[in-house]
Amino acid sequence: MSRFWTDKIASLDPYVPGEQPQDKRYIKLNTNESPYAPSSKALAAMAAEVSERLRLYPDPNCVTLKNALAKSYQLDANQVFVGNGSDEVLALAFMGYFAGGKPLAFADITYSFYKVYAGLYGIEPKLIPLNDDFDIIPTDYENLEVSGVVVTNPNAPTGKALPLTDIEIILKANPNVVVLVDEAYVDFGAQSASTLINQYPNLLVVQTLSKSRALAGIRVGYALGHPELIEGLERLKNSFNSYPVDRIALAGATAAVEDEAYLIEICDKTIATREQSVKDLEALGFNVLPSATNFVFVTHPEKDAEQIYLALKDQGILVRYFGNKPRIGNYLRITIGTNEEMAALTAALKTL
Ligand code: PMP
Repeated sequence: MSRFWTDKIASLDPYVPGEQPQDKRYIKLNTNESPYAPSSKALAAMAAEVSERLRLYPDPNCVTLKNALAKSYQLDANQVFVGNGSDEVLALAFMGYFAGGKPLAFADITYSFYKVYAGLYGIEPKLIPLNDDFDIIPTDYENLEVSGVVVTNPNAPTGKALPLTDIEIILKANPNVVVLVDEAYVDFGAQSASTLINQYPNLLVVQTLSKSRALAGIRVGYALGHPELIEGLERLKNSFNSYPVDRIALAGATAAVEDEAYLIEICDKTIATREQSVKDLEALGFNVLPSATNFVFVTHPEKDAEQIYLALKDQGILVRYFGNKPRIGNYLRITIGTNEEMAALTAALKTL
């Protein structure tokens, strides 16, 4: 341990990101990136921004992007916040809305960054167990003494989605605290709670351009919610002098958000490939959880997940193995790639 570390640093259990190995070209089915190129309009807008304008700071208020997002979700621009990836948006929300002394409720099996942020901001997690089928049970979120609630919809790494009626049960049960719905994967088959924003002032919806918009490389995420919640995030971002979203990212993100047709095209392709992959994996004896995302969460009743992960890696295919954790220790999360990539996965699995 470094002699300069504070107890705070020493006590952190940092998030371990999915592997991005550089030793050879892998078929990457481990970090839920899109296998498709970003919108050609987004690529052109970014290329155009690589110009003398880069000597200027970006617009700290992200006005063009906020307007594009507001139009797309039929909201006002003051109901939109923009950050460097949804991870930054989540960090600011945790800092601003959940660090209030009481614990923060979220599922025991969900995006593992929540625990990291909770640790960082001194928030005690109130873990709400998923049921035996890995479902979030909305009534488990009633009668809580908490500083807020985070619901991941669809959930990760399970891939299971909740209907909006269930989200509303959670919102109604927690009217005095912020209910953050992390919708990183919502475009692949779930309903967005963004349509509820004008009804529930405690609702903060968080989304990203990293998955369905195929733009993980530019780090843009956003929050949608009541103007007061958005204003709170703006205050925090400005006070911490977090980096504004850079000019190239702003140009690309705005064009991507405006290119709705391409979003639909690549989501439809991903969903069709997912349905085929589910059949192929089931034919190989895997149990596959129903997925509303761009990944599937699978287990094999007779085979060891870690062994499968290592054997696939050996063959140049990366999937996500989370280590020997309770309940999910024998599961793998497999991102939906192209048809060709998924056929290569199936072929490799047949050899094991
Ligand atoms: N939320 C969930 C549930 C995720 O899986 C991820 C991606 N790992 C994120 C948020 C963060 O995405 P990004 O920072 O790329 O927007």
